[in-house]
Amino acid sequence: MAQSKAEKDMIVKNYMEDIVRRNMDEQYEGRQDVCKCARCRLDVFALAINRLPPKYVVSDRGHIFTKLQEMEQQFNADVTREVLKAIDFIKTHKRHQ
Ligand SMILES: [Zn+2]
Repeated sequence: MAQSKAEKDMIVKNYMEDIVRRNMDEQYEGRQDVCKCARCRLDVFALAINRLPPKYVVSDRGHIFTKLQEMEQQFNADVTREVLKAIDFIKTHKRHQ
């Protein structure tokens, strides 16, 4: 099946991943009491994303940012709560020395 150029520029994306990453950055900035290494951040990301509904959207790459902002407003309260829980859980369950 031949793909047009426009189709190749379309992607399927889980916006929830971006919303969680941005929310994590904001929350980590205000925390001095937790480990901020790549390992702990990935653990927090996995924990939080598993507890939130995926939001798959077909999008043109150029329109991602606008859509992301809309969804961020819609889901920010849930995301903030799950990210906070995940950060606090990993704080007491670090998987490294
Ligand atoms: Zn760490």
